Amino acid sequence: SGKWAMAEAILRELEEKCATPTAKLRRVADAMMVEMHAGLAIEGGSKLKMLISYVDNLPTGNEKGLFYALDLGGTNFRVMRVQLGGKENAIKQEFDEVSIPPQLMTSSSNDLFDFIAEALARFVATEADDFHLPPGRQRELGFTFSFPVRQLSLASGTLINWTKGFLIEDAIGQDVVGELTKAMERVGLDMRVTALVNDTVGTLAGGRYSNPDVVAAVILGTGTNAAYVERAHAIPKWQGLLPKSGEMVINMEWGNFRSSHLPLTVYDYTLDADSLNPGDQIFEKLISGMYLGEIVRIVLCTMAEKASFFGDTIPPKLNIPFILRTPDMSAMHHDTSPDLKVVGSKLKDILEVPNSCLTMRKIVVAICDIVATRGARLSAAGIVGILTKLERDVPKEGEKPPRSVIALDGGLFEHYTKFRECMKATIEELLEEVSDSVVIEHSNDGSGIGAALLAASHSQYL
Ligand code: ADP
Ligand code: MG
Repeated sequence: SGKWAMAEAILRELEEKCATPTAKLRRVADAMMVEMHAGLAIEGGSKLKMLISYVDNLPTGNEKGLFYALDLGGTNFRVMRVQLGGKENAIKQEFDEVSIPPQLMTSSSNDLFDFIAEALARFVATEADDFHLPPGRQRELGFTFSFPVRQLSLASGTLINWTKGFLIEDAIGQDVVGELTKAMERVGLDMRVTALVNDTVGTLAGGRYSNPDVVAAVILGTGTNAAYVERAHAIPKWQGLLPKSGEMVINMEWGNFRSSHLPLTVYDYTLDADSLNPGDQIFEKLISGMYLGEIVRIVLCTMAEKASFFGDTIPPKLNIPFILRTPDMSAMHHDTSPDLKVVGSKLKDILEVPNSCLTMRKIVVAICDIVATRGARLSAAGIVGILTKLERDVPKEGEKPPRSVIALDGGLFEHYTKFRECMKATIEELLEEVSDSVVIEHSNDGSGIGAALLAASHSQYL
């Protein structure tokens, strides 16, 4: 009926503006590759920071001993201990996960790091006899810190800026290892940070440990980012000696990628303008778990205003930023019941829309589908961009294409099935004949193990 015509029109326009046909994705992939070159050429040469990780040797499997790892990156932080026993023995691990109180995300550096150090100290206190620290040795830690850091060495680096809803001004420009070390001293915890790694770099290290064909790692969680193994001589901005291995892991910080080929809508501009970091992390704002649900909310706001989608009044809850979380969007998107009852109950519970008819519910699902599909297809284009840079996107004449494994991790990839399946299908669509040699592998918590392995291979006792 006429009542829904306006809503349908808004939906059709959204679909058109979010469209990602193959040809457009190829332009995005090529733009990613071009920006990678620019970011490697000179410091500040691109929105892609292409940060040097100081990881020039990935784990061999021979690492041994007790190591701790700490992962700070989004909504949760994890503490972990692993007992590494070389190639003959399986890794023994224990972990604990603590959610970060939201007020700490915009507090002071001391408040945040004290909270982390206290949780770590509590965890260390539960270490049992089946973990072995040789007498007289200090415990060592791999610190996974998933924000842009300018590394000064493998075990130090200054925070460039925050992302993903964090904003702690006094930490910017500080050495995050120094901040953590001071906090550990304040709580009386004797531990040394021997590796500071981005979660993508940790995932790459953890992935390579279990599969030698891993060439890149991608995180799709609260935020999004990627790291890959670059040839050291292909990094013109690198001033130091070339590493013996000839390789260097690069943390792309691809969340900050931006290109005129990205299908941005008025809803994305609204989201960006109201964010903690306007103008930054545009790729991340199109793709990642922190933002997908929020885009859907903003579209629904427009439908409520312009098409009286929810009736004569706008549901007050709909005006609350981030009230519609990506896991709820995902639940609605996957609703297979004939009357879309999951959608109905989410609209009721979250937005306090008591009655929703099937037409309304179908439109909500269609919005989720458009927003998730765009994000998944753009993620695929990003991955193909990396493969293009590595010259693994097309077959070489007379050669069997090498196997390229991409280690994927993050809650969005893990739990949002339609997103994951769409992303994988799009990679195949873009790669055509080499798609058989490219494998997407879920690296479950590879980042924690990877950080522990890097802490081990850079131990002060080696
Ligand atoms: P982080 O990125 O914070 O280190 P995770 O990798 O665990 O942590 O990712 C958590 C994010 O994954 C959440 O913020 C959310 O956006 C997304 N996520 C979690 N569960 C789901 C789900 N069921 N469906 C869709 N997205 C999910
Ligand atoms: Mg994480």
